[in-house]
Amino acid sequence: MTSLSTPAIVLRAINYGESDRVVTLIGRTTGRVSALARGARKSQKRFGGGLDLCSVGDAGLRERAGAELLTLERFDLHESHGSFATDIARMAHAAYVAELVSKLCAPRQVELEVYDWLLAFLGALDRHGASAERLRVFELGLLARLGFGPMLETCAICGGAQLAAGGDDEAAYRWDPDRGGAVCSACGKRGRPIRAVVRRALARLASSPVDAPAFDPLPADVNRGGRDAIFEIIKQHISGPLLSLDFIAKMGGHV
Ligand SMILES: [Zn+2]
Repeated sequence: MTSLSTPAIVLRAINYGESDRVVTLIGRTTGRVSALARGARKSQKRFGGGLDLCSVGDAGLRERAGAELLTLERFDLHESHGSFATDIARMAHAAYVAELVSKLCAPRQVELEVYDWLLAFLGALDRHGASAERLRVFELGLLARLGFGPMLETCAICGGAQLAAGGDDEAAYRWDPDRGGAVCSACGKRGRPIRAVVRRALARLASSPVDAPAFDPLPADVNRGGRDAIFEIIKQHISGPLLSLDFIAKMGGHV
């Protein structure tokens, strides 16, 4: 048996039996792990705030040889993001990013930059409220940190950027998630058209800090176009639906 201690964020917690919970965490030094928290619904002492979604704290874990499920022995809460419980838009965004991280990160693969990106996003979401632009920044930054970031300003096949200088030429690039993002028209006719205004907005957001107090608002159609393009990339790397998307889709203009 080995004991581990790591800063961690709760990505998922489901009740198990009479008083236990099974949690999925991203640990800063462990990567994504699942663990059984015995007595989590009763012990305030060992589990502080009760392991709510996106809570941040220090996790004390114990692993047993051959067992996939670790044991969570304690969770010392640092930050519970209290605003999430009273604002459905914040909660929807938190649930979505937690599910994204959970599904995109491989188990036990340390992803320091992903951990810090998620931590920064959650703090900003708590402070500033839900914003579609911030969500796009988070998605793009998450994909980039996992090596899945889409090409936006150069062709994913030939690397050519000369067409980007062509100004408003809507036909300069197509969107081909199979090939990693934008593909120049000289490289092929696969993929689908993507509006230049959408591609440029994504390129701008891809280099934005996730914890900015505010963002230049995107027109609704540009946000939708960007959201759809990003989601086509995400779908390349996950299996099955994102359960939180139904919830978030109901949030209308906030997504
Ligand atoms: Zn090309």
